[in-house]
Amino acid sequence: FERFSIPIRQGGEQARLWSFRDITQRRLVEDKSRKLSRAIEQSPSAVMITNLRGEIEYANEAFTRITGYSFAEVRGRTPRILKSGDTPQQVYDELWATLEAGNTWTGDLINRRKSGEIYIDSAVISPVRSSDGKVTHYVTIKDDVTEQRRIAEELERHRLHLEQIVAERTAELSAALQTLDTRKKFLDALAGNLPGLVGYWDTDLVCRFANRQYQEWTGLSPEQMVGQHIRETLGDELFGRFEPMLRDALRGEIQRFESGRPKATGEVRQLYLQYIPDFVDGAVAGVLILGTDVTSIKEGEIRLLALNAELTVAKERAEAATMAKSQFLANMSHEIRTPMNAIIGFTHILERDAPTATQRDRLKKLGGAADHLLMIINDILDISKIESERMTLENLAFVTTGMIEGVSALVVDRIQAKGLQYVVDVAALPPVLVGDRTRIGQMLLNYLANAAKFTEKGSIALCGRVLEFDGVSYLLRFDVTDTGIGIATAQLTKLFEAFAQADTSVTRQYGGSGLGLAINKRLALLMGGDVGVDSQPGQGSNFWMTIRVGKSNVSWDDSAQPHPPRETAEERLIQDYQNRRILLAEDDPINREIALELLSETIGFAVDVAENGALAVAMAQRGTYDLILMDLQMPEMDGLQATRLIRHLPNYAETPILAMTANAFADDRDRCLGAGMNDHVAKPVNPEKLYAALLKWLINSSLPVLPGAQMATTEVLPPGSVVPPGVVARLAIPGSASEVVGRVAQISGIDVHSGLASLRGNASSYLRMLHMFVDTHGNDPALLRGYLAAADLDRAHRLAHTLKGVSGTLGMSEIQLLATELDAALVERKADDILLSMVTTLESAHAEVCAGIKELPRPPSR
Ligand code: ADP
Repeated sequence: FERFSIPIRQGGEQARLWSFRDITQRRLVEDKSRKLSRAIEQSPSAVMITNLRGEIEYANEAFTRITGYSFAEVRGRTPRILKSGDTPQQVYDELWATLEAGNTWTGDLINRRKSGEIYIDSAVISPVRSSDGKVTHYVTIKDDVTEQRRIAEELERHRLHLEQIVAERTAELSAALQTLDTRKKFLDALAGNLPGLVGYWDTDLVCRFANRQYQEWTGLSPEQMVGQHIRETLGDELFGRFEPMLRDALRGEIQRFESGRPKATGEVRQLYLQYIPDFVDGAVAGVLILGTDVTSIKEGEIRLLALNAELTVAKERAEAATMAKSQFLANMSHEIRTPMNAIIGFTHILERDAPTATQRDRLKKLGGAADHLLMIINDILDISKIESERMTLENLAFVTTGMIEGVSALVVDRIQAKGLQYVVDVAALPPVLVGDRTRIGQMLLNYLANAAKFTEKGSIALCGRVLEFDGVSYLLRFDVTDTGIGIATAQLTKLFEAFAQADTSVTRQYGGSGLGLAINKRLALLMGGDVGVDSQPGQGSNFWMTIRVGKSNVSWDDSAQPHPPRETAEERLIQDYQNRRILLAEDDPINREIALELLSETIGFAVDVAENGALAVAMAQRGTYDLILMDLQMPEMDGLQATRLIRHLPNYAETPILAMTANAFADDRDRCLGAGMNDHVAKPVNPEKLYAALLKWLINSSLPVLPGAQMATTEVLPPGSVVPPGVVARLAIPGSASEVVGRVAQISGIDVHSGLASLRGNASSYLRMLHMFVDTHGNDPALLRGYLAAADLDRAHRLAHTLKGVSGTLGMSEIQLLATELDAALVERKADDILLSMVTTLESAHAEVCAGIKELPRPPSR
């Protein structure tokens, strides 16, 4: 209740009248309205009430929070103050249309806060009606959705982006699928069009792919095969046959094999099958089977094999026939040679004794014809021997220029008789070769004789050089060039065939068997080389040949040792050291002669000679010498002992003492060095080498010998640079020298060139020395025999050693070789019977050489 009182007057007495009113209903309304207004006041959404004129009559706290305006500021004003201008006019039009129709409008308004910041209101505006239904006000409830909208927008953007990515990926995927599809189609087309079988089975041997061609063999379409086990495709029998290979392939090993396999039609064809393991990440994932029908190839192969077998039989038969023929020819030629010797021999005897001039003339012609016939027979013998494979080549060391000289001697007269110039250039060849000296000479002779035969004016040149050197063998090339009639191009190819002659009319004019070039070709092939010719009719010809020969590593071969250019050493000695005093200790008269020739005759040294070591020491004591040449093996006292004693003499501490030794072995050199020698000169003495050594030590002689100094060692010069070109030419041309050379060359076992080289080409000195050899060493084999019988091995050894040196010096290569062997055998103290048989061999070689020398003219002694 609500109580109130009114004062009243009642008898002067103040009184009050109390009245009570029931206000329960009113209080309830008031309460409700207060709650409502508090709720609105505190609502998180902005609430704004405007009258019909749009004037704001109420705004809550949220309004102030969102807009920044207090209620006091906006009271009586219109919501236009919030307008940002960004809300499209159309929105307002719709808003008013809705409200005027009495409906509620919902929508977004882009507004501006008091601070100026733009924000988004999500608004609900409704008309408020009085109890009679008339619209009196508008109430607006708004929320600031700026942030929500921003997030939503961002989400939208993301969504769009995602959509774009998805679209792109989808496009890529479909492109890839398309490519795959194209590729698959391509592979299918490829596999389908291959002429062979292509299939793929997985590790369970289930078919994953088979090309069309399989149908022919299995009767199944690819579609039927895929998914089937291979046993079903092949049938039990074939599966049993191929299973082991399939298993091996599944273990990772490629299988390749041929197999007869029936087609679906029953026809059996030959298949070449390949089982190729398919590796995925290192493990076998399946087997690729490739099959090719090789039936026709196989048949061809079989036909070919049969043909080959037939051919081989035919070839063998032909070869056997040729061989038999060649053997027959070889035998026959050999047989014919014997009676030919009788014919030729008796013809000469008859010719000598023939009483009448006519008979003599006829016998002379008969002799000529017989010689010619013998030559032809020899050629036939050679070629048959080669063809019946009975030709064996020798492999012995020989001195190159000796061989060249021997060949030259046989043609030089013919060449000079025709007034032709003969030029030899073999300077570039190695000095010593290992091979078949006779056959090489024969080949050169064939070329040279042809050149001499077919050349009327101009020159003939023989040139030799090294094409290759591999450390053990040389490939040599020889060229024989002439300025003769030449050969027509058409004939060139047939020239080297047996029995072929370039021009039969020419041959009839010149004669010949047509075998020379064929022999050359076969010999060259046997020697690992070849032959050839360049020629122009009327211009001359160039015949060449290549042959492979061995490199000599014989230790006594001195020619392979280096020397400065001869002229230089020799000239310098003559110029600057002519009157130097030299003591020569050498017991062998021939070696002494040669040394004197080289030292005093040529250079002009003042040379004293001691015949043994003891004499050398005595002479050194008496006089002074600038240099001493000391033989090692001498009677009375050897070179080592003599050197030791000489080194103790006053003034001899530094005098160069050079050993002369036939042993080039390292321990010999060490012994020389140990005894106090400075160097050694190998025997047989090579003049250039000797001069070089003399020059070196005469220049050095003022220098003291250092303790522990190494004995000078000689380096080996590159091959093909040793023999001076002048030597051969000088020997070949002058009449007397060439005559001597020719005659000496005919003595078997003598290497003219190497002997002459020791005497620097002086033929008459050489001749004198050869006779001296017979005089002083003619009895050596008998002496050796005696020493052996008396078991005096030391003397035997000394003699063998001396013989080795002397024979080497004089170019008696065979004696030298045998003496060297004997020397070594004596050092090794070989058994008596071996030594004796060696002496016997030496004796016969020695006898032959001595007999040859005795036939030679004796030049006046010096
Ligand atoms: P031959 O000389 O005994 O007939 P070859 O085999 O030595 O036999 O030579 C065959 C042919 O080659 C000769 O007959 C000749 O026609 C030709 N021939 C060889 N060498 C020469 C050369 N130097 N100049 C011209 N022709 C040559």
